[in-house]
Amino acid sequence: MKTASQLNRIKACPASETLPHTDVSTVWAERSNAIHTYLQHLDELGQIGALEKIPQQYRDECRALDVDIPLGARTEVAYAYDLDTKEAWELEGCKDREYHKYVDAANPNIICGTLDLEHITEDRARVDDWKSGGKRYPKPHTQPAMMFYGMCVSKVRERGVVDLQYRQLDTGISPRSTVDTFDFVAFEGELLRIRKAVGVAKRTPAASQVYNQGEHCRYCPAQDSCPPRLRMMDRAHTGELEREVHLNWGAGAVRDPAHLQQMYAQYEAAKLMVSRMSDILHAIAKEEAFECKPGVMFGEVEKLGNEKLHGPIAHQVVEEIHGTDAADAACRRKCTKKDLERAIKAAVPRGQGKKAIDATLEAIRARGGSERKLTKKITKYPKQLKGDS
Ligand code: SF4
Repeated sequence: MKTASQLNRIKACPASETLPHTDVSTVWAERSNAIHTYLQHLDELGQIGALEKIPQQYRDECRALDVDIPLGARTEVAYAYDLDTKEAWELEGCKDREYHKYVDAANPNIICGTLDLEHITEDRARVDDWKSGGKRYPKPHTQPAMMFYGMCVSKVRERGVVDLQYRQLDTGISPRSTVDTFDFVAFEGELLRIRKAVGVAKRTPAASQVYNQGEHCRYCPAQDSCPPRLRMMDRAHTGELEREVHLNWGAGAVRDPAHLQQMYAQYEAAKLMVSRMSDILHAIAKEEAFECKPGVMFGEVEKLGNEKLHGPIAHQVVEEIHGTDAADAACRRKCTKKDLERAIKAAVPRGQGKKAIDATLEAIRARGGSERKLTKKITKYPKQLKGDS
């Protein structure tokens, strides 16, 4: 049995299915699980009840999430799909991704997955996947997991058209795709191609195996035994990686574009490796502090955060004691777009939020109340953006 969330990685790197898998639950997974648990209970228990279901350290973050659950929508709905029969069915009562209690876990042809939110209307369906963490997500129809959820909903709820949406809770950006039964038929073909690619990888001798490194490696359960990754760790350890980058730098260096491209790919893979190391070390330290250097411990420390003063009260007090000028100088009024959006949404009738927010922002801009600084940073961008094709 495979899960929908593994499809992206299996499609990108079928060879990862030939290596031993280990549990990759990390601090990152704990945070994500807390957010999902909160959202799962939000509709049924309300905010206070849902917050009680999650660890204390994630409560502030969850409280700040801007979640809008449409009337009649369902959250955390689990589905299974059989690659051979092309049948999909709901795993009623399956919570916390305990699929093995509902399907034959040894059957490699069954794929299970739990979607975050499903909303069925008269003529179509909508599937939302909640995301947090600030990363930009691609159009959902390009992602096998989202297509899997959409296909199951389409089959089980008998809806020909499904809107797929990533709800990016931190940024408010929601990439969206509309797909139909033709797209799902094509996707079923893709699932069979993925299965075939895994079969080919399993018959390929280890020495000829092709591993494809990329963003999907972050969630790969075979990381600890992945040959290119282990080689890279050795090269990083001996300093070979760093020396190679230096070949392109400094007086007289010949910048070889192919070498730079290869170095950039290794830099990204190394970043992933470091981020996983950090996740694991934080997870260990959370369970029990350890001595990270002689005389220095690495573990959870509780301390008071920066003191925040309540603006209106502080203004009043400073004005009483030191006068209005001092109070105005001491207390600045701040407005973030997120706070403004939240406040306006709460102030106007349901459904009118976006229009009211746009109009208010326009009025603020018209009075010179908005500023946007131009910043420069080294980053990736599409080749045609600077016309340097
Ligand atoms: S870590 Fe290795 S095995 Fe896993 S997806 Fe990346 S390249 Fe493939």
